[in-house]
Amino acid sequence: MPQLKDIATQIRRDIVRMVHGVQSGHPGGSLGCADFLTALYFKVMDHQPAPFDMDGKNQDVFFLSNGHISPVFYSALARSGYFPVQELGSFRKLNSRLQGHPTTHEHLPGIRIASGSLGQGISVAIGAALTKKLNNDKNLVFCLTGDGELEEGQIWEALIFAPHNKVDNLIVTVDLNGQQIDGTTEDVAGLGDVGAKFQVFGWEVLHMNGNDMDDVVAVLEKAKALAGKGKPIAIMMKTVMGQGVDFMEGHHEWHGIAPSDEQLAKALAQLPETLGDY
Ligand SMILES: [Mg+2]
Repeated sequence: MPQLKDIATQIRRDIVRMVHGVQSGHPGGSLGCADFLTALYFKVMDHQPAPFDMDGKNQDVFFLSNGHISPVFYSALARSGYFPVQELGSFRKLNSRLQGHPTTHEHLPGIRIASGSLGQGISVAIGAALTKKLNNDKNLVFCLTGDGELEEGQIWEALIFAPHNKVDNLIVTVDLNGQQIDGTTEDVAGLGDVGAKFQVFGWEVLHMNGNDMDDVVAVLEKAKALAGKGKPIAIMMKTVMGQGVDFMEGHHEWHGIAPSDEQLAKALAQLPETLGDY
């Protein structure tokens, strides 16, 4: 089994190659969340890639709320065995199962909801978590949301509902990269102390450096240990948008633009091939 850090590096290569290949997509948030998705799919989650079971009964399930970071999601799914790695080359192409924003219509294994219409993932994850309780299914539900996404009103309905209903088999991670499509989150609509807000709503709150693999694994394991204790769990995950590619790091401009040929070469020089390119 390759080291988690090496898997994350290959996933970062996949991300920039996929987005470059069609000159379309979202590299910044994808690169920032590569360590998190690697830890989830290769270490932390108890899940079965194949055969894919849409209901996910008796396994951990993950919902990507900020669906525009589909490149990192598709790469993590393919690399962990949900579908052939070669299919990453069809990203955003006509009739591909790998559309810009994930949907269930294409029946891509690993995708359980359409996402990209922001704000909906936590609500869906709560529904899945309550279903697991009704089914006496002891596995967990994970969800990732962006920080800019917290400006959606539906998020706050979900944040009220989950603690009130003791949805304690749910682990929500917030990608605090401080950036969104139009600028920094503080400039667009200041979020203040996000962890304090979750806490005052009744969530158990943890903090994590989302670009330090050891910390990611340790905090996710700690979150799992806190499940079943009466409170939903939220992880405040600090990441750098564009992490791993120096000229993309920390710039909101890389939210949703593709690298040129020259920029791709520069990026790939910083990301050694570890598992073999698709
Ligand atoms: Mg953001």
